[in-house]
Amino acid sequence: MNLTTVIGARPQFIKAAVVSRAIAETGGAIKETIIHTGQHYDANMSDVFFSELDIPTPNYHLGIGGGTHGQNTGRMIEAIEQVLISDRPDWLLVYGDTDSTLAGALAAAKLHIKVAHVEAGLRSFNRRMPEEINRILTDHVSELLLTPTDTATRNLTQEGIAAGKIAQVGDVMYDAALYYRQRARKPEWFDTLPVQQEQFILCTIHRAENTDNDQRMREILAGLATSPLPVVLPLHPRTRHVLARAGLGIPENIHLTDPVGYLEMVWLETRCAAIATDSGGVQKEAYFHQKPCITLRNETEWVELVETGWNTLAGANETTIQEAISRALNTTPGANQTPLYGSGSAGQAVVEVLGKYC
Ligand code: UDP
Repeated sequence: MNLTTVIGARPQFIKAAVVSRAIAETGGAIKETIIHTGQHYDANMSDVFFSELDIPTPNYHLGIGGGTHGQNTGRMIEAIEQVLISDRPDWLLVYGDTDSTLAGALAAAKLHIKVAHVEAGLRSFNRRMPEEINRILTDHVSELLLTPTDTATRNLTQEGIAAGKIAQVGDVMYDAALYYRQRARKPEWFDTLPVQQEQFILCTIHRAENTDNDQRMREILAGLATSPLPVVLPLHPRTRHVLARAGLGIPENIHLTDPVGYLEMVWLETRCAAIATDSGGVQKEAYFHQKPCITLRNETEWVELVETGWNTLAGANETTIQEAISRALNTTPGANQTPLYGSGSAGQAVVEVLGKYC
């Protein structure tokens, strides 16, 4: 079977590392071609993941990034379509909810190439999020919807998607967390910070609903400033840009760094006291590594984490963030975790299901 994978953004590289490894183990039964759209292009947002996680070098690099949603998506559709017309794969595989996901899905569906969507069925029910639009549209043009959780499967059924198209495979990010935990690496700069292991909050902020809103960013920084523990914040390029543009001061207890590679991120996640984030992936990684999570959003797609008490939705409000940090540092959520995200073999499950459908 010939399968073309479209990736372009940081979380997709991590997910693709898991599935591409499982594909390689098929010994040629599935032949994978990789298109990198170029949505993320910096060395520390893209190259580091390919080298550290042994992702095969992309066969095509489209170099499309840095524009608006419409510009990026339009240019990606055009360029992906050209590749698909010449290669004519049996399946197109996309991950998650970025503009690269939607562009790949639309280009393939209109050429009658079957689309498989990994991480299908996630919903925030907030259509102001660009990711929500990307997810819904991608799911509805996909032939095979590979879901990570019971909730995701239920969301698709409720939207009228035929059960025969849905396969609950578990979460490939759980596979990644288990596999790369053994290879985690301490960032070189860690010992230069006034920070002790197990005595800091790891933070990431990049979601447009926060970075596009100076008031929300101000509240988040004020909330983090109340933390009794120092905060380590590897900065997404978009957030760095916004902080500079808005001239927002950084509280003294927050230590900014460049974005880190995945192996360093896993090290930080396993060595912190708690995690504060607006990232989808990092919320789950907090759970995988048994750290309480404070989510800097008003809603989450990963509702089961909130239900089990591992995740608190703190929004972007100084007081609720302060309260959530205090709770996270003073209570340990139930030590026995329910296996919400499968058994750590989602990558193989994706490959098995693809094998059955071809
Ligand atoms: N991540 C990373 N380095 C960083 C910040 C995040 O490797 O400096 C990883 C993180 O561990 C997770 C993924 O990037 O696996 C999440 O990506 P992101 O937060 O950009 O996207 P989202 O999950 O919100 O779609």
